[in-house]
Amino acid sequence: MQNIKLYNGVEMPLEGFGVFQVPDAAVCKQAVLDAIRTGYRLIDTAAVYMNEAAVGEAIREAVESGLVRREELFITTKLWVTDFGYEACKEAFGRSMKRLGLEYLDLYLLHQPFGDVYGAWLAMEELYIDGRIRAIGVSNFFPGKFTEFAEIVGTKPMVNQIELHPFFAQAVAIENMKRYGCVPQAWGPLAEGKHGIFTHPVLSEIGNRYGKTAAQVALRWNVQRGVSILPKSVHRERMEQNIAIWDFELTAGEMQLIAALDLGHSEIIDHGNPDIVRYILSTKAE
Ligand code: NAP
Repeated sequence: MQNIKLYNGVEMPLEGFGVFQVPDAAVCKQAVLDAIRTGYRLIDTAAVYMNEAAVGEAIREAVESGLVRREELFITTKLWVTDFGYEACKEAFGRSMKRLGLEYLDLYLLHQPFGDVYGAWLAMEELYIDGRIRAIGVSNFFPGKFTEFAEIVGTKPMVNQIELHPFFAQAVAIENMKRYGCVPQAWGPLAEGKHGIFTHPVLSEIGNRYGKTAAQVALRWNVQRGVSILPKSVHRERMEQNIAIWDFELTAGEMQLIAALDLGHSEIIDHGNPDIVRYILSTKAE
């Protein structure tokens, strides 16, 4: 497992574990504990996932049982749009930290590019300067929005978490982030199972050369191009499979073959669709 250094010097594991769509508290707690036992150190949640408390319980149990030290973990959560704005962000941060049971947070992200992102960012900058958060960033900021934001704000986002997998490679977005020193992080690194990813002929054929699965090839491709990944699974054997990607290396030709699978658009969500924007703005986090 490799780390990547954010521009402020903070080290972030290149691979982490996501808990989107795990609303059941017991399942979520067990999954996070299993993930930590499997070797994951970065855990990615969000206020809107409704499972921060379960993640917090798992962290407490893992630390109290001596499985891991708090400093070895890298915990990310995200501020939802209904809490964008200066005051609202400060209050929502307090609620998230209470649910997580943490003294400090490793990474706090603006979850979506809509609403009062600038007011919220001012509050996040203060929390960062006060040492409550080790790094701050954004999520789902498409290239135009990301550029506007990065040009205007004082503290540039350290991470932008967007959809990134072989069928939506977003090479231009990644290049643009790197220009601002921002680390690209992949949500849906397994395309949420879409497009036949787990049995895809190109990914499977490359995997066969190394004794790896199509999923492992897709994950390896992203980390090899400097993208942090957050595969999610509630199944222990899949968690183990998804983290066993650090003992092989794709060739430049294989990297190109995988990059050629890019469809150039998402099959999951379109942030340019007005209905999606209205849906996001009207969704409540808590
Ligand atoms: P994903 O990781 O691409 O795919 C997860 C799906 O793949 C689940 O259905 C999982 O099933 C299955 N799976 C995982 N590993 C597998 C394997 N080796 N073989 C076969 N099936 C496998 O999708 P995601 O959960 O949407 O994205 C990952 C994380 O990114 C999330 O959990 C969340 O933390 C973050 N995220 C962020 C945003 C955002 O807006 N910022 C949006 C989406 C996700 P099982 O669980 O049943 O094993």
